[in-house]
Amino acid sequence: MMKTAIYPGTFDPITMGHVDVVQRGLKLFDKVIIAVADNPKKSPMFDVQTRLDMVNATFTNENRIQTLSFDGLLVNLAQTHQATAILRGLRAASDFEYEFQLAAMNRKLDADIESVFVMAREEYTFVSSSFIREISSMGGDVNALVPAAVRVYLPQKGKK
Ligand code: ADP
Repeated sequence: MMKTAIYPGTFDPITMGHVDVVQRGLKLFDKVIIAVADNPKKSPMFDVQTRLDMVNATFTNENRIQTLSFDGLLVNLAQTHQATAILRGLRAASDFEYEFQLAAMNRKLDADIESVFVMAREEYTFVSSSFIREISSMGGDVNALVPAAVRVYLPQKGKK
């Protein structure tokens, strides 16, 4: 039977940390669905279509990855796509509390869907979308921390 995981996130924008999580997910699952959450409450910098475009432009040659955007309940989306796992990444202890609550809540909603956590490479442990947005808006160079396809979307473009 094919094992599918769903990787939900805001991806505002997708970073090398996210890419690393996806690659680890592909070692564990036959298919990874990257689900870009609309999340208007988070007031994302990029609208959901642009965030999805950046994800799509990052993974052009991987047929085991599916991408979509969503604004409903994650467990419903997982059920619709026959995903049996929710993939999430952990950076530091500071991620734990939120991820723990989220996993517990999702388990309450559907006990058959397992949350699975992976750690990205050490050099990406400090990488977050908010960090990328902040540094690039001040003209800092974050090129090594985002997929090539994302660079053109960042405000630092053209600056040094
Ligand atoms: P959300 O708003 O759902 O937290 P994010 O896009 O910020 O969405 O993150 C999605 C998931 O990816 C989270 O589980 C987050 O911990 C994980 N993640 C993000 N960046 C990294 C990284 N550098 N290393 C490991 N996991 C990461």
